[in-house]
Amino acid sequence: MSFAVNPPPAVRSFPFSRSPIGRTPRVSMVVRSGAGVPIATAAALPILTKLQNDCATPLPVLRHVADAMATDMRAGLAVDGGSDLKMILSYVDSLPTGNERGLFYALDLGGTNFRVLRTQLGGKDDRVIATECDQVSIPQDLMFGTSEELFDFIASALAKFAQKEGGKFVLPDGRSRETGFTFSFPVKQTSIDSGILIKWTKGFAVSGTPGKDVVACLNEAMKRQGLDMRVSALVNDTVATLAGARYWDNDVMVAVILGTGTNACYVESVDAIPKLNGQKTTSGRTIVNTEWGAFSNGLPLTEFDREMDAESINPGEQLFEKTISGMYLGEIVRRILVRMAESGSLFGKHVPERLRTPFTLGTPNISSMQQDTSEDLEAMVVEVCDTIAKRGGRLAGAGIVGILQKMEEDSKGIVFRKRTVVAMDGGLYEHHPQYRRYLKDAVTELLGPELSNNVVIEHSKDGSGIGAALLAATNSIYEH
Ligand code: ADP
Ligand code: MG
Repeated sequence: MSFAVNPPPAVRSFPFSRSPIGRTPRVSMVVRSGAGVPIATAAALPILTKLQNDCATPLPVLRHVADAMATDMRAGLAVDGGSDLKMILSYVDSLPTGNERGLFYALDLGGTNFRVLRTQLGGKDDRVIATECDQVSIPQDLMFGTSEELFDFIASALAKFAQKEGGKFVLPDGRSRETGFTFSFPVKQTSIDSGILIKWTKGFAVSGTPGKDVVACLNEAMKRQGLDMRVSALVNDTVATLAGARYWDNDVMVAVILGTGTNACYVESVDAIPKLNGQKTTSGRTIVNTEWGAFSNGLPLTEFDREMDAESINPGEQLFEKTISGMYLGEIVRRILVRMAESGSLFGKHVPERLRTPFTLGTPNISSMQQDTSEDLEAMVVEVCDTIAKRGGRLAGAGIVGILQKMEEDSKGIVFRKRTVVAMDGGLYEHHPQYRRYLKDAVTELLGPELSNNVVIEHSKDGSGIGAALLAATNSIYEH
């Protein structure tokens, strides 16, 4: 059985500490002033003070963000384009119950790796009988090639994986294999098993796919490879995470990804979606993908955020994502440290050269520095990391409360008067303990001790792989 193991985050060495982010000696000699503050860093103090002011997330700020999130969700549900939040309909109307049986595949394409998985489901009692998965990296040239080349490569890797099927994995006679397809690029979904690619992101520039149904592209490639498999559910990673977590716990109502980027989805009643124009689903409910990374209302932003945004490839867009997600936290910290180094001589006379290059300080570096209990690290550097992680975690928590609040307002008791689970996944949430704590603290502060007792924020590790396979099962063309 081969399991994909995430490599440890690459931690680059920076010359402001010895351990654990590097062995380079410190640049600055620490000379302590009378008050115990190193003289070299004392000059940077006003920058830190202003930063902490600008980034502050006291309860009224959190409350505003939660309320605005709920309002924006409503506006996006009313009409397409009605708010920053797209509130995309997922066409996932029924969630796994635990009764699913049979062999199902999942394919996850969302970055430079794609993952394939198969699972044998045994129904209520046996649940997941066996799972196997594999990870394949996509050759760089295919990211700039043609649509056929990319999908042929994926289909051929999938065919190789399917060939190794055996042992506990059994496909009943007369059936085709079915797969869930987790596709984390912007798609205009047209049904549970079709969706038009709006545009490639994350470094992909494959010609010929935008404007096409990605499920058709994959189904055709699988046919060319002679692979007897069809896509029965096209989903994004938050929806797959929700499905994966729901399989084990019926109280899961919301899923949130905090990784390189961020997004959230939740279970909505069709009656609360005016833009459905009265269309019903058998369950009366459907999963809505909020695309909350685009939220922007009332965020406590600093000059450093504004500069980063202005220089980004999508200025003015994805502001919530730029404030709370893994791709950006390290970069915000880097920009602050450069300023402190230039005007506060934080690292002595010179600004460390590498610090000048955008995106060289990763969020894993921030997390490492916050775990560092040695005396080596410049206290002010840790303070900066903490300030940015704290703002991110607390705002993410406020966003979650916004979603819960919106659900509760529409249907009293549905969230707060019973146990409700928010399934969390993504590298940032998983690997950054302070961030996680700040997030939970904000939820508790906003809800108060009593209500927050009913809200369980839970890590659903790699639930999205099995979630996509489960959605293939729920949407199987065969009886189940
Ligand atoms: P993706 O979002 O690209 O699908 P992941 O969910 O694995 O991938 O998240 C990866 C991201 O998580 C990285 O880009 C990084 O920002 C963040 N991350 C990874 N490790 C850590 C860490 N130790 N501390 C903080 N953030 C981390
Ligand atoms: Mg991911």
